[in-house]
Amino acid sequence: MLNDGFPEQIAEYNQSSMTIIARILFPLPLPEPFDYLVPDGISVEPGSYVRAPLGPNERIGVVWEVIEHAPDRELKSVLEVFPVPPMASAMRQFITFCARYNVAGPGKVLGMALRARGGLRASPMQTAYALTGHRTNRMTLAREKVLDAAQAVGPVSAAELARAAGVSSSVIKGLVAAGSLCAQSQPTDLPFDGPDPYRNGPDLTVEQAEAGQALRAAVKAGGYQPFLLDGITGSGKTEVYFEAIAEALAQDPDAQVLVLLPEIALTQAVLERFEARFGAAPAPWHSGLSDVQRRRTWREVAHGRARIVTGARSALFLPFAKLALIIVDEEHDTSYKQEDGVTYHARDMAVMRAKQENAAIVLASATPALETMVNAEAGRYRRLKLSARPGTAKLPEISLIDMRSNTPERGHWLSPVLSKALIATHAEGEQSLLFLNRRGYAPLVICKACGERLKSPGTESWLTEHRYTGRLVCHLTGWSMPKPDKCPMCGAKDSLMGVGPGVERVAEEVRVLLPDARVEVFSSDTAKGGEAVRDLVTRMAAGEIDVMVGTQIVAKGHNFPNLTLVGVVDADSGLQGGDLRAGERTYQLLSQVAGRAGRAERPGRALVQTYQPDNLAMIALAAGDRDGFLQIERDVREELGLPPFGRMAALILSAPDAEAAKQAGLLAGKTAPHGEGVTVYGPAPAPIAMVRGRHRLRFLITAPREVDLSAYMTVWLGALKLPAATRVRADIDPYSFL
Ligand code: ADP
Repeated sequence: MLNDGFPEQIAEYNQSSMTIIARILFPLPLPEPFDYLVPDGISVEPGSYVRAPLGPNERIGVVWEVIEHAPDRELKSVLEVFPVPPMASAMRQFITFCARYNVAGPGKVLGMALRARGGLRASPMQTAYALTGHRTNRMTLAREKVLDAAQAVGPVSAAELARAAGVSSSVIKGLVAAGSLCAQSQPTDLPFDGPDPYRNGPDLTVEQAEAGQALRAAVKAGGYQPFLLDGITGSGKTEVYFEAIAEALAQDPDAQVLVLLPEIALTQAVLERFEARFGAAPAPWHSGLSDVQRRRTWREVAHGRARIVTGARSALFLPFAKLALIIVDEEHDTSYKQEDGVTYHARDMAVMRAKQENAAIVLASATPALETMVNAEAGRYRRLKLSARPGTAKLPEISLIDMRSNTPERGHWLSPVLSKALIATHAEGEQSLLFLNRRGYAPLVICKACGERLKSPGTESWLTEHRYTGRLVCHLTGWSMPKPDKCPMCGAKDSLMGVGPGVERVAEEVRVLLPDARVEVFSSDTAKGGEAVRDLVTRMAAGEIDVMVGTQIVAKGHNFPNLTLVGVVDADSGLQGGDLRAGERTYQLLSQVAGRAGRAERPGRALVQTYQPDNLAMIALAAGDRDGFLQIERDVREELGLPPFGRMAALILSAPDAEAAKQAGLLAGKTAPHGEGVTVYGPAPAPIAMVRGRHRLRFLITAPREVDLSAYMTVWLGALKLPAATRVRADIDPYSFL
């Protein structure tokens, strides 16, 4: 027999006694952790971040379990343990829960917790320049500027110091030679300044103080304690949850706090409020961060040194060492639902995370989600109410404009009533905000000659005309092309016509109405990225804009003291979606937008243009009767067994051609397991039946509350064997039905 070494190896394994084995989970779509030997000289524990060989590569993973036994096959060895505290057991449990609940592989969820690999190692070092205290007698204006800047910003790199002083870096070299600056080595990523929990906030009103005390008491007592902070816009919810944060920080020098905000609300103004209250800027986490900022926040969070983190939904997957409190601001906001990759709802997952961390959680909103209200009613969350704005600020008066009797002129979108109000507000030197949830100039482009409606290639979605850029854009996929001068179908020249209003078109109408007004469009097209959003918000707050025309981007949490008129151009557009939350969403969005007005001394008003003044959402909005509106929604959902009274999931299939999609749908339908009380509807073509050339089908699955629909979907997906070109995903608690 050929001696290939194999029998000897087996013999060796049998002789070897128990071995320490690390089960490593990798941030990859793999079904489970893999076993590795822990060689001498390396010490791991559950949660350790490690590097290990996987296939032809080396990968970073997390030790999920450490066991001792004799391996029955050859195992590869752990290569390195990273110098960072192990991932806390509550975090690992959270990842496991999140994977199970959302029917995703645990590795994919772990991937969300490992989004800044640079944070696994200590910060790189850089040369920084600091004042020596020696003042050279050969001073110049440029040198003065550098010394002032060094005083203000502290030790930083030559490039940063030169930028802060507005001089060239040769001036810095000169000052080093003159002995006024010295070079020192320091980490590139500095720790965040520690917040001070003992600074005073404003004097709270009686109801604010009561709510603040209730939160302080809960944080002090410790343990999982969920709250709904239900307060009208501008009632001081932020000031109240600052009380909870102060208490958490004061209770324990290692405690950390996570504040989740919708991405768009993470503006400088909000962060400055944290800084003003706690004397230090919070650690940020959102999609606009550079890799360096990202790894800095990740590292400081993992080491337990970043004490307040303000972030968008993905901040929920940061590896906090000791998370004591979570705030979910604007908890009703639909941007908390992630639709790509792992689909999850950050608000719901935040509640689970708080449970696992044994921490307090505050869900704050002026228009809580029905799910949250029902949880509060059932006593699962404690509800704290704020019913007034402090000082003289009042909620704006909301009036409906019946567009059937107040019809705008042909080709116009503003009714005579709203136009008059805009003129009067401008004459008073006050600001107006027009809200229309449609980007671009016109949401539809048709050919006057042949009637063709222009669509994005391979996608069942109409193209939107954008005049500022001169392009036709697909808002679903981002595909765009310059606006052609001929119809691509019939070739007719100059026949393409934009139909319906977008924000650009409404802004055009306002410019004609108020020729001397400063009019700006605020949408994700005109404000690309945090910097541009910040700039527009700052200019609006400073009174440098008279009329802002915006999409839902304007609805979120901004404070504009001189804004007294809000006009909703087309209140009905949200009601046409046909999904179960359409009415609720319309109500939330419109009342948030209306809540932008009258936030300071001047009273505000909101005018809402609608062709459906009898719709329940509109009537409740005008009456300010949020609870009445929610009660009707609640009764309907209870009657029909819809969430939160029943459970819902979706299965979405897509394939490169219609026939393959149909076959996959048939197979999936046949494979659906039997489940007590579970009803499977479909397959039906998705409302947007084709995206990027892929044909899409949907199943809708409903069940009573007590059914574990995640487990059902896991069984179904496990049994479903589809061709490689077909994609399938589950969506638990779907919010999008497209
Ligand atoms: P919300 O989060 O409920 O919309 P905010 O906390 O943003 O409300 O408060 C709205 C505005 O009122 C902010 O400018 C805030 O600083 C101010 N404010 C809130 N409470 C008080 C108070 N007790 N005294 C003075 N100003 C307050």
